[in-house]
Amino acid sequence: MPNLPVVAIIGRPNVGKSTLFNRLVGKKLALVDDRPGVTRDRREGDATLIGLDFRVIDTAGYEDQDAASLPGRMRQQTEAAVAQADVALFLIDARAGIVPLDEEIARWLRGSTTPIVLVANKAEGRAGEAGIIEALALGFGDPVQLSAEHGEGMGELFEALLPHLERDEEAPLEEPEDEEFYEQGPLKLAIIGRPNAGKSTLINKMLGEDRLITGPEAGITRDSIAIDWTWEGRPVRLIDTAGMRKKALVQDKLEKLSVADALHAIDFAEVVVLLLDATRGLEAQDLRIADVALQEGRALIVAINKWDVAENASSLFNGIRSALEEGLSQVKGLPVLTVSAATGKGIDTLIKVAFETREAWSRRVGTGELNRWFEKAVDANPPPAPGGKRIKLRYLTQAKTRPPGFVLFGTRVDQLPMSYQRYLINGIRRDLGFGAVPVRLTLRAPKNPFDR
Ligand code: GDP
Ligand code: GDP
Repeated sequence: MPNLPVVAIIGRPNVGKSTLFNRLVGKKLALVDDRPGVTRDRREGDATLIGLDFRVIDTAGYEDQDAASLPGRMRQQTEAAVAQADVALFLIDARAGIVPLDEEIARWLRGSTTPIVLVANKAEGRAGEAGIIEALALGFGDPVQLSAEHGEGMGELFEALLPHLERDEEAPLEEPEDEEFYEQGPLKLAIIGRPNAGKSTLINKMLGEDRLITGPEAGITRDSIAIDWTWEGRPVRLIDTAGMRKKALVQDKLEKLSVADALHAIDFAEVVVLLLDATRGLEAQDLRIADVALQEGRALIVAINKWDVAENASSLFNGIRSALEEGLSQVKGLPVLTVSAATGKGIDTLIKVAFETREAWSRRVGTGELNRWFEKAVDANPPPAPGGKRIKLRYLTQAKTRPPGFVLFGTRVDQLPMSYQRYLINGIRRDLGFGAVPVRLTLRAPKNPFDR
């Protein structure tokens, strides 16, 4: 997996670093032994903790028989690992309590810019209680109480790691190299719809007169080109499909062609405008195309064209809007606009809404804000208890953007009814600024690494 966040496990010999490493990586990659100094090398592996994926480094390699030179080598190893990690787990042995070497490691770490999570391992039972209190003196706050050997405290470890492992995803979108830096990229816009809806007329009008065409870019696919232009100084890349230019085809072929065209355009677009014809209303094929765009995770806008010749405008508009709500149950409140490609009326609003929609589509909500919202949503409407057994919902995290995807952790989530999932999805859209953008929710049961 590319670009996994890195977690270093540090601490003096024999505190349980290799045991924890093995638990997280799930394979017996590192040796575990009672005698201090059994594991020889620094190990790395891909780890999973309750659905969080990261790379883990075990720094047990400095342990050998030469006690005199131990602190020096240990310091080097520890500092190197911490420097390359997004977060470091500083393990102590709760049963042994704090020993001078722990205090020395704490001193090395104090100047580090990498976040440190203090972990009191071997905390099962009561034998670790005194050590947990002593650990406060190290100056890294309350330790996470863990038993790497028995699998206790993995949920707390997850909670402690989560904010640090999301560092990349939460980073402000300021670095131009960053692929996530979408604001500077052109708005990738596709206009799709049935033949004669007015797509060519609309595109010509958009590109006409005071618009600056910065040049056609051929060859996005065999069948489509992109036209770069600017709208009020902001770059737009219009995906133009070959089908728009193949007007000579017979009518029954055109019906099929427009769906294939739509698929091509949807592939390359961020925002898809479904253009309807006010003189024809909403037809089944429109709903099919809209459905494809949403399934592909694109942000969708519906524009009713030829508004200049619309009859019974308000009942037409309301009829189309309620047919969309009914036909596309996966999104509520889709933007529905009216335009006239012939006169140009409504085009500026359409593009403005397209930019806004892309912003919602690209939006990321931090884990803190998200879970404050989530707690309230679950309080207001607790999940059902099928067969008398409670479904426990624990955390919600936003795993991706464009389109937004969320992961819900809990127990028995496989039994969470669709209606409850829709309740959460609609709430996320409504309360957290995603509007009518398609939002995905994945359910995950925390796997106890010790249960396997
Ligand atoms: P490292 O030197 O820090 O890598 O420590 P190891 O992982 O090799 O563990 C040292 C010893 O502590 C081994 O005997 C482990 O079985 C034991 N150990 C590790 N985790 C725990 C734990 O959670 N509880 C108890 N009681 N023993 C543990
Ligand atoms: P396409 O097949 O979707 O590219 O549709 P065209 O752009 O070729 O338009 C089909 C027909 O609708 C043409 O005769 C256009 O002149 C007409 N048309 C397109 N937009 C409008 C509009 O806003 N108002 C009116 N009255 N006619 C339009």
